[in-house]
Amino acid sequence: MDSIGNALLLDGVAASGEPQVLVKDQIRVHALSPNPAQNLLIDELVELKTEIESKVGVALSSASKPIDVYLFKDELSFREFTAQSNAIFSDRRAFFVRSKDALSVYGFWGMRVAEDLRHEVTHGYLHAAFPQLDLWVDEGLAEYFEVNPDARGVNSAHVRLLGELAQNRNWRPSLQRLESITDPTQLTQIDYAESWLWVHFLISSPMGKEVLKTGLVSAGSVDRVPWSVEIQRLMGNVEQPLLEHLTQVTQHR
Ligand SMILES: [Zn+2]
Repeated sequence: MDSIGNALLLDGVAASGEPQVLVKDQIRVHALSPNPAQNLLIDELVELKTEIESKVGVALSSASKPIDVYLFKDELSFREFTAQSNAIFSDRRAFFVRSKDALSVYGFWGMRVAEDLRHEVTHGYLHAAFPQLDLWVDEGLAEYFEVNPDARGVNSAHVRLLGELAQNRNWRPSLQRLESITDPTQLTQIDYAESWLWVHFLISSPMGKEVLKTGLVSAGSVDRVPWSVEIQRLMGNVEQPLLEHLTQVTQHR
C-alpha cells in the first residue's frame, strides 16, 4: 500500500490507450484488453467486501467511494508503465494508491492476478471506510484477505516463514515494534508475516475480533490508545497465545 499522489500514474494510463470500464458496486475495472474472465474477477472483488464485513464484524457499506482498478494486459506493459511513473513500485506486481479524490489499484492480468487484486482492493475497502489506519493492521488485513476464501485467511508463505523463525528462536512477536513502523517501504517480509499473524490471531477469538473492530472504528481519533496497549489491557500478555496460535495454524494447514 502506498498513499501518494497519483496524477502521474493516471496520465500514464490515459497515454496507453482508451480502456474499457467495467463497473459493479464499488469496483470500477479499467482494462485495455477486456476478457470474459475479468467479469468473474469483478464478482469476486465485490464479494470480498461482504467477506471483510462478516469476518471482521465492521460495516464497510456506508463508504461507497469507488475503487478504480487499472488492469494492464500483461506484465510487460505494466512494467513499462511503472518504469515511467514511479521507481518505488518497480518491483511490485500490483499496488494501491490513495489520493485526496481517489482510491486506485494498479496491476496486470497474470497468474496471480486474483491474489494481487484481493490484497490491493482490501486496502481500497479499508481506506474508503477508515482513512487513518495504522500500517500494520492495514497490511495484516490485506495479507489475510488476499488468499482464496477457502483457505480461511491462512497465508501459507507467512506460516512457513514465521514457523521456521520461531523454531530457530530468531524472532519474537512485538506489536509495539510493528505499530511504530509508519513508512511502507520499511516493512520487511517478516513484518508483513507478523502483521498477518496478529490479524489472524485476533479474528480467531470473539474478544480479539472485538478489539480489532473497535480499533478500526476508532482509527485516527485523537484519544486513540495504541493497539498494543489496548490488547494488553483486554487480553493480557498475548505473546504465548500468539505463538501457540501459529503452531495450531501450522498443524492444520
Ligand atoms: Zn499491501
